[in-house]
Amino acid sequence: MTEERATLLQGGRVVSADGEYDADVLVVGERIAAVGDVQAPPGATVIDVSGCRVLPGLIDNHTHLSMPFMGMMSSDDYDTGTRAAAAGGVTCLVDFAIQREPDQLRSALEEWQGRAEGAAHVDYGFHMAITNANEATIDDMQAMTDAGVSSFKLFMAYKGELMTRDDAMTACLERARDLGALTMVHAENGDVIDLLVKRALHAGQTDAIHHALTRPEFVEAEATSRAARLAEYTGASLFVVHVTCAAAAAEIEAAQQRGIAVSAETCTQYLVNTIDDLRRPGVEGCHYICSPPLRDASNHEPLWDYVRRGVLESVSTDHCPFTNEQKSRGLHDFSLVPNGMPVIQHRLAKLWDEGVVAGRLTPSQLVDRTSTTIARRFGLAGKGAIAPGKDADVVVFDPAAPRDYGTHTSFMNVDYDVYEGETASGSVRHTFSRGTLVYDRGQILTEPGHGRFVARSTAVGAGVAA
Ligand SMILES: [Zn+2]
Repeated sequence: MTEERATLLQGGRVVSADGEYDADVLVVGERIAAVGDVQAPPGATVIDVSGCRVLPGLIDNHTHLSMPFMGMMSSDDYDTGTRAAAAGGVTCLVDFAIQREPDQLRSALEEWQGRAEGAAHVDYGFHMAITNANEATIDDMQAMTDAGVSSFKLFMAYKGELMTRDDAMTACLERARDLGALTMVHAENGDVIDLLVKRALHAGQTDAIHHALTRPEFVEAEATSRAARLAEYTGASLFVVHVTCAAAAAEIEAAQQRGIAVSAETCTQYLVNTIDDLRRPGVEGCHYICSPPLRDASNHEPLWDYVRRGVLESVSTDHCPFTNEQKSRGLHDFSLVPNGMPVIQHRLAKLWDEGVVAGRLTPSQLVDRTSTTIARRFGLAGKGAIAPGKDADVVVFDPAAPRDYGTHTSFMNVDYDVYEGETASGSVRHTFSRGTLVYDRGQILTEPGHGRFVARSTAVGAGVAA
C-alpha cells in the first residue's frame, strides 16, 4: 500500500452551508478523511489554523478564460486564470466553451479541452455555448452530456455574433430537457439593444457610459421573462446567468412562484459596482464595460435581498478580463470595447466584506451561494462541502489578515485592478485543491496541470433553493 499524504488543519472554524462549528479537518490523499476532534496520524503535516474559517473551496460557474470575443482573446489563460482563482479561494471553475463550427459542438469542446489541459492549477469543467442551433447542432448535444458537459448556454444578446433567436432557443430547451441538462441564458433583448446602440452612435454618443444607457434594465427584464416563459412551455430547467437588477430578479421570482424550474445567479460586481463607474474618464470607464451593464446603486439592496432569500441562488464572477490596450480599442466608440471585467480573484474577499461584515449574509449563506448550491446545481457531486469522502478542496480564510487589492497582489493577467487602492479586511491564507496546497499566503506552489477536467452529471437539480 502506498503511503498517502496526510494534512491536519487544526483548530479552525468550519463553515458549511448549514452552520459553523469548531473542528479539525483531516485530509488524506485527495479527499477529506475526517472532520471533528481529530488526532494527527503519524507523519501528517499539522497546520495551525486557529482564528481562521475553513471553507469548502469556492466554485466559479461563470468564467471566460482564453475566450475569443469581438475579434480578441480574453487575457487570462488557464494558467494565469486558475492561479488567480486559487489566490481567491476558488478550487473549481466551469468555463464556457463556445461553438465555433456551424453544425456541431465537438470541435469546440476539443479546442477548450486543449487550452485547459496541462495548464490549470484547479479543477475545471465546461458549459457548451450554442451559437448556431440548427438540427445538426441539436443532434450533437448528447455528445456533450456524454462527455460530462451537462449544461448549455444561449445568448439572447450580441446580435450578429452569438445571439440565438427564439425558435432555435425553444428547440434547444426541448433537447436539453430530454437530456436532463440545464439551459443557461444570457438574458437581454439583443434586437432592442442593436437599435439603441445604432441610434446612440448616430447621435455621437460614444463614451463608455452609453454602453450602459443603450442596455436599459427593461431589456434584461423582458428577455428574462421571455426565457422563463419558454422554459415553462417546454418544461426545461433554466438558469439565468448574471442577473443585474431588481426588475429582472422580480421576473425570476414570479416564474419560481408559478412553479417553473428557473434558477439564477448574480455576480460580485453587480452587488458592489454601479453604472457611475462607466463615467470614469478615458480607458478607466471602459474597464467597467460588461454585459448586462453595471446598474444604478438603488439595485444593490434588492439584489442582496434576492441573494439572501435564494431567489438568486448563487454568486459567480463572469470573469472575462481584457487589458488596457484591448479596452482602448473602443475609447472613441463604446460598441468596440470588449465586454468583461477581471473579478475571479476577488469574489470571496468582496462578499466577505460587503456581505458578511456588512451584516447582509451569514458566513454559511456565503458558502452556500458560492460553493454548495453551485456544486448541486451544476452536477459537481464531489465538491461543495467539507465532509468525509468529498474532494479535499479547502480554503483557509483569515478574517483578521487584511490584504490590498491591486495589480501588485493580483494573479490575473491584466494591467489594472478595478479595486486598486482598496483593502480587504480578510484574506485567503491557504487554498488546497484535492489535498494539494496550491496557494499559500501570496505564493502559487503548483505547476500548471495540477487541475483536472471534471465530468459533471446531468439530471441537475431544478427549482428554488432552500
Ligand atoms: Zn459571461
